[in-house]
Amino acid sequence: MMNASYDMIVVGAGPAGSTAARLAAEGGLDVLLIEKHQEIGSPVRCAEAVGQETLRPYIVPDERWINAHIDLYAIYNSAGDSVVVPPTEPTLVLERKIFDRELAYLAAQAGCTVQAKTSAVGLLREHERVVGVRIEQRGQIRDIRAKIVIAADGTESQVARWAGLKTVPSLTDYYVGAEFLLSLRGQAIDPTRCQYHIGPTIAPGGYAWVFPKGRQMANVGLVVSGENKGNGSAYAYLEQFVQRVFPGASILSEITGGIPISGALKRLVTDGLMVIGDAAHQADPLTAGGINLAMIAAEMATTVAIKAVRSGDVSANVLRAYESAWHRRFDDQHNALYRMRKFFSGMDEQQINGLIKTASELRLDEMTPKHVLLTLFKSHPRLLLEATTLITTGLILK
Ligand SMILES: Cc1cc2nc3c(=O)[nH]c(=O)nc-3n(C[C@H](O)[C@H](O)[C@H](O)COP(=O)(O)OP(=O)(O)OC[C@H]3O[C@@H](n4cnc5c(N)ncnc54)[C@H](O)[C@@H]3O)c2cc1C
Repeated sequence: MMNASYDMIVVGAGPAGSTAARLAAEGGLDVLLIEKHQEIGSPVRCAEAVGQETLRPYIVPDERWINAHIDLYAIYNSAGDSVVVPPTEPTLVLERKIFDRELAYLAAQAGCTVQAKTSAVGLLREHERVVGVRIEQRGQIRDIRAKIVIAADGTESQVARWAGLKTVPSLTDYYVGAEFLLSLRGQAIDPTRCQYHIGPTIAPGGYAWVFPKGRQMANVGLVVSGENKGNGSAYAYLEQFVQRVFPGASILSEITGGIPISGALKRLVTDGLMVIGDAAHQADPLTAGGINLAMIAAEMATTVAIKAVRSGDVSANVLRAYESAWHRRFDDQHNALYRMRKFFSGMDEQQINGLIKTASELRLDEMTPKHVLLTLFKSHPRLLLEATTLITTGLILK
């Protein structure tokens, strides 16, 4: 049952929204979390890989929602050469349906009111300030007031747009993705390795992935650049990829979706409103991974929101502490990742194949970032220029 007013309304029960709702409730706020779908966590629009240690402060890893523990990443070119690298932290492949529901359950346990099948359809405003949310539930429209609203409504966020934030990325900063959940018959994969496949003929401007969910099941998908100048949609490229790599596999589910990869919106707050997670374009501008980043944003935003609500001042001036904290912590790193994506997407098939071939000749025990780089610079000097910026931002030699 919903009240007529709350301290905070969070729109969207993905990782960003549920984490924000839980933290705010734990911080003593009276919180409503709404989700438009009838079932939290479904439909899944994700390849479900996430860094375990970054996740840990927000939820204790639990085998109920873990499908695979990943020790290594294997990166392939179109010629079939591969380089195997250890991830920066152990990686999990999740069962997001259960994971997302668990996050919402924890929010409810912390005292937050969670309500599925309830959509935000507008914002309430007084003197240009956001003072609540207009919701639709079973065909009924209702206005619910809040001291602060958190927009956590994902990539197609309307809430942030209603609040006047600029949320539409250019096509050059947008991945279009397609993914199949595959059942692999008579063809086992290593359940401890995530595979990445790169090259313009595989996924122009993007990459393909195989994330295991056991030996004979995997999320197999790809993203292409929104300005893809190749021949065909992400879906068509994925069909080609699956026919080549997993002929005979069955498709248990299909998803398509877009992901902004511009780096976070410049403005993340207005009077009475904050935007977090995919709605704020906070996903990694190279890989488009956004689960961990959404949860970090949720923590940063609620830390500021709790103080603002307690002080009675939820103006943009006060909420901007979250915006500044985000940009201070991530801008240099994400700008470097952005440039790295631009750099790789400008390479042709032959250059990418050469790069992977060179790296494939290294032994795993030589795979320190420094050693890999030195080897690549020797054979591919053009890399040096770009790498300089990545090294100065501490991205690859830390
Ligand atoms: C194909 C694909 C593969 C991906 N793979 C990975 C991966 O392997 N690892 C990774 O870390 N990230 C991955 N991502 C990105 C990841 O899914 C997102 O970064 C992450 O889900 C962001 O969480 P969020 O809470 O911000 O948004 P979401 O998880 O999108 O949650 C937003 C929620 O808001 C709800 N909502 C929307 N509008 C309204 C409304 N008006 N009223 C009420 N509710 C509303 C939605 O139904 C949704 O539940 C992938 C994305 C795609 C598209």
